[in-house]
Amino acid sequence: MTRKVTYMKKRIWASSLLAQFLLFYLLSKMPWAGQATQSFFEWQKPVHQRLFSQFPFSLGDVFYVLLAFALAYLVLKALTPKSRSKALAALLILLNVVYFTYQLFWGLLYFQKPIFSESELREPTEVELKLLATKYLNECIALRSLVSEDSLGVFKLESLKSIEVEIISQQSQLPQIIPEKKATGILLFKPSLYSGVMSYSGILGYYNPFTAEAQYNAKLPSTSLPFTLAHESAHQLGFAREQEANFIGYLLGKNSTNTELLYSTNYFVLRNLLWSLYSVDPKFVEETLELYSEGMRRDAEAAKLFNEKHEGVFDDFFQWTNDLFLKSNQQEGRVTYSYFVHLLVHYEMSLP
Ligand SMILES: [Zn+2]
Repeated sequence: MTRKVTYMKKRIWASSLLAQFLLFYLLSKMPWAGQATQSFFEWQKPVHQRLFSQFPFSLGDVFYVLLAFALAYLVLKALTPKSRSKALAALLILLNVVYFTYQLFWGLLYFQKPIFSESELREPTEVELKLLATKYLNECIALRSLVSEDSLGVFKLESLKSIEVEIISQQSQLPQIIPEKKATGILLFKPSLYSGVMSYSGILGYYNPFTAEAQYNAKLPSTSLPFTLAHESAHQLGFAREQEANFIGYLLGKNSTNTELLYSTNYFVLRNLLWSLYSVDPKFVEETLELYSEGMRRDAEAAKLFNEKHEGVFDDFFQWTNDLFLKSNQQEGRVTYSYFVHLLVHYEMSLP
C-alpha cells in the first residue's frame, strides 16, 4: 500500500515539474506575463528585502550549501534500491519547490520589456566610441588623483559602507527614461561566504533570487568593488539582464558625489569602451593605455596580478557555466557583452 502511494506521489510530482517547465515556457512568450511578474516583484520587493536584511550574514549562501547537501544526499539515496522510491519522491518535491520559487521571484523578469526597444538602438560608430573613451579617460585621471592609496600606491577604498549608502540613495534618482522601479532604501549587500573560492571563479558578485541579497567578493581589488555593488543593486531593483544591470549600475554610479564609486564606475566604462574598440583600432587602445596616469597604471597592474594569482582550474569551468547560464536565459554570452556599450552610447548621445 505505502509503495503504491509513494509511486503515485512520484508520478504526481514528476508531472507537476513537467507542467511547470511548460507553463513558464509559455508564460515567457506572453508579454502580459512579463508585466505581471514585474508588478509582483515591485510588490514583494520591500517585504523580501526587509526580511533578509535582518540577518548580518548571507543567509542565501547558507541556503545554497544546505540545498547542495540535500540534493547530494537524495541523489545518493536514490541510487540505493531500498530507499530509491522515497528518495526520488523527496527529490522531485524539492525540485518543484525550488524551481517554482526561482521562476516566480526572478526567472520571468528576464522576459520583461528591454529598457530601450531594439528600434531605438543603433550601432555606435567608431568615432563615438573614441570620443567617449577619451572623455572617460580624462574623468578617470581626475578622479584617481582624489582617492586614497595603500602602501604600494594602489587605490584603496576608505569606506565601503558609505558607497553602499550612496548607491541606495541613487536608486531613487534614476533618470525618467528608465522604467520606474521603486527604491526600497534597504541596505542588503553582504560579503559572500565563498569569497575565497569566488576569487578563482572570475565572478565578482551575484544576486540571490531566494533571499534578495546582493553578495560580493570581499577580496576584490578596490577598482572593481564599488561598481560590482552598483551592478548587484540594479538586480535588487528588478533589472534581471546582465547588460542592463551594468547600464543601471553605470547610471547609479555616474551621478554620484562619492569619488570612490565614481572612479570605479568610470573605470568600468572606460575598460568596456576600450574592449569594444580593440577589434576595430588596437593602436588607439594602446595609445589610450599609454595615457593612463601613474596611479591608474598601478591599479590596472594590481587588478592584473589579482587575476593572474587566481587563475586556475575553476576559471574555464565558471566561464563555461556562466556562458551557458546566460545563454539559457536568452542572453548573449560574454563575448558580446558590448550590448552595454550600445546602451551607454545611446544614452550618452541623447544627453544635452
Ligand atoms: Zn549580474
